[in-house]
Amino acid sequence: MRSSTSISSTCQFYLFKDCLARRILQYQTVGGGADDASDSALDDFVTYLTTEAWPTLPSILKEATYEGRDSLYQSIPDVESEDALSLDSTSAAFIESLVSYGIVSDDNEALRFLRKALVEYVVQACAPPPVWSLTRTKECEICQREVPLTYHHLIPKSVHAKVLKKGWHPESMLNSVAWLCRYSIVLLIADLCPALFRPCHSVVHQVASCEDLARNLYTVELLLEREDIQRWQKYAAKQRYGVRRG
Ligand SMILES: [Zn+2]
Ligand SMILES: [Zn+2]
Repeated sequence: MRSSTSISSTCQFYLFKDCLARRILQYQTVGGGADDASDSALDDFVTYLTTEAWPTLPSILKEATYEGRDSLYQSIPDVESEDALSLDSTSAAFIESLVSYGIVSDDNEALRFLRKALVEYVVQACAPPPVWSLTRTKECEICQREVPLTYHHLIPKSVHAKVLKKGWHPESMLNSVAWLCRYSIVLLIADLCPALFRPCHSVVHQVASCEDLARNLYTVELLLEREDIQRWQKYAAKQRYGVRRG
């Protein structure tokens, strides 16, 4: 079978790249500072890793979409568990880079790192398409890009009951939201790529649990005080896909 390099697989490539970037950001070893040089070092490094890892991934993962999710989950029923993928053909350069940058200590850990990123990627690639009526054009409150937005409940709904019981916030605050970019690639490739992308929203939920968000990160300002969000912000602001031009 001929390997497919369709336009829509470009979306998946960038989605996977963002998943790797969020994982890398949890480590301080790549461009540890907050200056421009370390930001572009991060982008270069993530681009390199993605370019190395992507070609060796199983096609069924590279082509993961909402529409194709049934056949994906039939082929790999436990695709969301980290043990489901063997990843035997992973590029040696990918593994060596993670080890030499001190992000992981050995080959096994490098594969575990990749599996975690892949699980996140699959969940996002197979997510249902956005509810178009919620489209809103304004800048994302984290990356400042002018792309359609969705809202993040600054006090996540799942902890509303607890927040009230413990008196952490008044009831009137419960529905405060941050407007964050909703998808970053769909505008570029129109209808070919209807998966839901929420790059900045994903990073918010990755750095803290819902309870932690509710207690300590309940405004955009508080979120932006965090160094890991700041580093993501700089990375995301430079990503061109999804940004309306002209
Ligand atoms: Zn954003
Ligand atoms: Zn949220």
